[in-house]
Amino acid sequence: MSDIINLLPDSVANQIAAGEVIQRPASAVKELIENAIDANATDIKLIVKDAGKSLIQLIDNGSGMSATDARMSFERHATSKITKASDLFSIQTMGFRGEALASIAAIAQVEVRTKRQEDEIGTQIEIEGSQIKNQTEIVCNTGTVFSIKNLYFNTPARRNFLKSNQAELRHIQDVFIRTALINPELHFSFYEDQRQKFDLRITGWKQRVIDLFGKGLNEKLLNINEITDVVEISGFVGKPEIARKTRGEQYFFVNKRYIRHPYLNHAVQAAFEELIPSGAFASYFINFTIDPEKVDVNIHPTKTEVNFQDEKAIYSLLRAAVKMTLGKFAFSPILDFETEMSFDHAPLPPGAEVKQPEIYHNPDYNPFSNPMGKPLDGNTRSDPNWQPPEMDERQQNNHENWQKLYQDEAITAESGMSSTQVQRDVFSKDIDLSELLYFQVANKYIAMPYEDGLWLIDQQGAHERVLFDRFSAMMENAKPVSQKKLFPEIISFSANDLDIINELWEEIHKLGFQMNKNDEGEIEVKGAPPEFNEESVQTVFEGMLEHYKNNQINLQLDKHQNMVLSMAKNLSVNGGKRLSYEEINALMEAFRNAKQQDFSPSGKRIMSYLSAQELADRF
Ligand code: ADP
Ligand code: MG
Repeated sequence: MSDIINLLPDSVANQIAAGEVIQRPASAVKELIENAIDANATDIKLIVKDAGKSLIQLIDNGSGMSATDARMSFERHATSKITKASDLFSIQTMGFRGEALASIAAIAQVEVRTKRQEDEIGTQIEIEGSQIKNQTEIVCNTGTVFSIKNLYFNTPARRNFLKSNQAELRHIQDVFIRTALINPELHFSFYEDQRQKFDLRITGWKQRVIDLFGKGLNEKLLNINEITDVVEISGFVGKPEIARKTRGEQYFFVNKRYIRHPYLNHAVQAAFEELIPSGAFASYFINFTIDPEKVDVNIHPTKTEVNFQDEKAIYSLLRAAVKMTLGKFAFSPILDFETEMSFDHAPLPPGAEVKQPEIYHNPDYNPFSNPMGKPLDGNTRSDPNWQPPEMDERQQNNHENWQKLYQDEAITAESGMSSTQVQRDVFSKDIDLSELLYFQVANKYIAMPYEDGLWLIDQQGAHERVLFDRFSAMMENAKPVSQKKLFPEIISFSANDLDIINELWEEIHKLGFQMNKNDEGEIEVKGAPPEFNEESVQTVFEGMLEHYKNNQINLQLDKHQNMVLSMAKNLSVNGGKRLSYEEINALMEAFRNAKQQDFSPSGKRIMSYLSAQELADRF
């Protein structure tokens, strides 16, 4: 047999690499903005059309490139940012792999126009699927304009993989916000389909935070500034009163590079402990300035994780710094101040152990699962080997549950299964619910002996179902019921969230919220549906938005369904809440009339029956 291994042509190799580096339009945006920053631009303008699918344009006033460099920039591993391997350990720029432009050019039609200050004449190059199509001299401003047209034009599989324009645009906006947030000394603007979404003047960091996330934050940000031998920690935390139900405004940067870091996030949350309600998230905007040798960023370009050498020390320093900030502003008990503050020179007392915090819990822990093996409800998560899921996996499960919901319903309908039969009985006809015995178990389930078995009802699922039906009905009802608020509530949202609120404007009104937009871009809530007139509308919306955004990524729902679903999920009583007998009774009365009792709207099983036989099997 003859030899069979071939070297892939460059254009094919580039396409493969591009699949990894440029996973979605937002990845291209990230690379282009970072290049502009690396080129010392002070003015960066982003234009996208069709959520970046047909056009991404980035205009900067940075250093520009010579004709030769402009051509070189599209070669793989062509970079001006490092020259030798040891440079990798002291990277000061955003980019360094020399991969981005080669990748983008492999899967799009790219045009670059660029000129250096010292040149009279600039260069224009057109490249498509890694093939240079044209190169000419042109007259243009100093700086660089990249236009990326028809991303994935030659990789339709990847193109089909993209999410809705809304979702892709949100990713782009996230990238834009993260970069603009940490570079307040640069002017950033962003246009989407001709519409200006952001115009961020040159300013200081605090003002940039406020420009991005709303005036509501003025007066609500506390300064952090801690300089130690290991790291310099600077930025802001939001006062405890603005802790939110959504994870929205949590930003870590390392040497001005955006990162995610669950472990360090835990440090901040720990410092806020007891100052904010459980389930609420602190807001923070924190940059770690650290010797580049002590942090490893030489990992995948699309990843936002980094490895610190002194992770544990940084954890303690961060927690102490946040505590101290909160304490200074008299939000935190002064208690362990002395010890917490003694980190100035020795970050950790010798031999001290920092306990690795546990960030995961099993949200589906089922105290009724049969230790002998077979889970009661066929839910494989009762498996003793069950591992806490990654976020994505959980979202995946959620998605599967949705599909299961329909499948199960079909099966049940076909076979007229017996457990459903019992169920219809318990909630049907003339049974006076108040004559049944029920009690709460683990603050999570409602147990109800029935016939010769036992019903277990997930309280959150049942409540979610009740609310879902109620809100769905309100959506159909032409006349929403609304109650005037004594004092109008003024809410400010981040640009991202405001976009969603705008999208849902009509639906929100149908639920009975009365709101206006004021000139400041804030929302004034004058009335709310009687059901939650007591609650802060801001909190309600934040929770709703969080679910809405997750659903948008994972489920194919129209916005109307998504909004009702998210609202129901958000307002449903938590598993873990103790209910009074009256509350249980009211919930069961409402639940008996629900359109469907098997599954919650978000796809979790609500009812599970322990038959006499199953009970007997235990003994
Ligand atoms: P990297 O940023 O990792 O070096 P890229 O593929 O993103 O790799 O860019 C390749 C090179 O092209 C850069 O090293 C830089 O010299 C040049 N370049 C890219 N974008 C710009 C820009 N906006 N202005 C000036 N030079 C640029
Ligand atoms: Mg780059």
